[in-house]
Amino acid sequence: MGGFFGVVSKKECTNFVFYGTDYHSHLGTRRGGMAVTSEDGSINSTIHDISNVQFRAKFETDLNKLKGNCGIGVISDYDDQPLTIHSRLGTYSIISVGKINNLKELVAESFNDHHSGHFLEMSGGIINPTEVIATLINQKSSFLEGIQYAMSKIKGSCSLLVMSQNSLYAARDRYGRTPVFIGKSDDGYAVTMEDAAFLNMGFRCIKELGSGQIIKLTADSMTELAPAQKEMQICAFLWVYYGYPSSNYEGQNSEVVRNRNGIIMHENGPKPPVDYVCGVPDSGVGHAIGYSNVAGAPYGRALIKYTPTWARSFMPSEQCHRDLVAKMKLIPVEELIKNKKLLFCDDSIVRGTQLKNIIHRLRTIGATEVHLLSACPPLLYGCPYLNFSRAKSDFDLITRRVIRELEPDNPNPDIDSYQDPSSEKYQKMVERIRQIIGASSLEFQTLQGLLKAIDVDPQKICTYCWTGKDPYNQKE
Ligand code: SF4
Repeated sequence: MGGFFGVVSKKECTNFVFYGTDYHSHLGTRRGGMAVTSEDGSINSTIHDISNVQFRAKFETDLNKLKGNCGIGVISDYDDQPLTIHSRLGTYSIISVGKINNLKELVAESFNDHHSGHFLEMSGGIINPTEVIATLINQKSSFLEGIQYAMSKIKGSCSLLVMSQNSLYAARDRYGRTPVFIGKSDDGYAVTMEDAAFLNMGFRCIKELGSGQIIKLTADSMTELAPAQKEMQICAFLWVYYGYPSSNYEGQNSEVVRNRNGIIMHENGPKPPVDYVCGVPDSGVGHAIGYSNVAGAPYGRALIKYTPTWARSFMPSEQCHRDLVAKMKLIPVEELIKNKKLLFCDDSIVRGTQLKNIIHRLRTIGATEVHLLSACPPLLYGCPYLNFSRAKSDFDLITRRVIRELEPDNPNPDIDSYQDPSSEKYQKMVERIRQIIGASSLEFQTLQGLLKAIDVDPQKICTYCWTGKDPYNQKE
């Protein structure tokens, strides 16, 4: 994934860019970058690897070199950003968040049409998608036309932030999969992907961009360059898992949605008598509190994250190291576990490995029952729209591995037939997952229940990872 933040102001703004970008640290794990337009109009920028260090620790020493009234910053999963581009539109810095599924085709097209003779290659043989987007923008005679052209060519998703000559251009993805907000202070404007970032910095959130909407900001003005489109497919996982709890998307606060989701799971699901309701830290907590508030069982912090050093969601790529890190992050409270019946809520079940380890640990400490509630339905499809690093291929998903096990002789099982909770196939799949992770019982929230909790027009919500349905054919 990734997230960006930008400021254009009458006053020096580097500190705001620094802290605002830092508030997107939960959205990306590997790269951080900042670019600031200095007094003489030149752009100074810096990019760091933040795999093992927090954004603030890496960038603190750069702040004196990055002075100016207009700046942008980004946290991203693997690609270096912001990129500063010299073009016929002038010199500008650009950040993108999303995933381009037709990157190879766009690169080939660029070579064939002689728009670019080369692209820099990142490690792993990948071309930086932001550079490809810049090449598309540069083919037109204004930023508006260029951004619209890029948006029309990209399959997948893409929200953009461009800084040029003390102006910012903010564009939300064509189908609104990722959010973009505008904030205002006495001295200027800011752009963010998490409106929670405004709360401590004196910005009032004045606008959530609609799908495909493009806005130009100067220190004194906000101008709409392109209106919002009707179609929207905002990512449901913002509310389920990765959105910051203090943030709001389409007017629905993430923590409140999680609480509501827990209440709905309690209303609709079985209600095993338990001593404590617990959340798997951090993203299971909001759902668990909602459940506990109506279940008549107290919320208990049976597992507590060691926040002093494991504050961010860093996850190494090797599975054995991932499992070790996952274990080290959580420290049990034995008194709340031994001889207790527990119900744990987690945001979702991806591979199931870490939940299996957690349940095994709880049982080893002496929990007599460990029931598990997933705050969303079984994940049947990997995400094709965001670089959502939790599952790299469909077969990382525990559901897919179980379906393969249940239908060993079928090379093309009907995945859709595992969606209906009342079907025998669904129940067999869930029972097998329960056995693998070792839970006393296992329940998944239904899609209807989740959409009810989110409380936004369901036509506007992307639910691809549960349904495999792509109404606007942006998958490939
Ligand atoms: S496929 Fe899932 S994770 Fe990806 S945008 Fe849609 S809801 Fe979000």
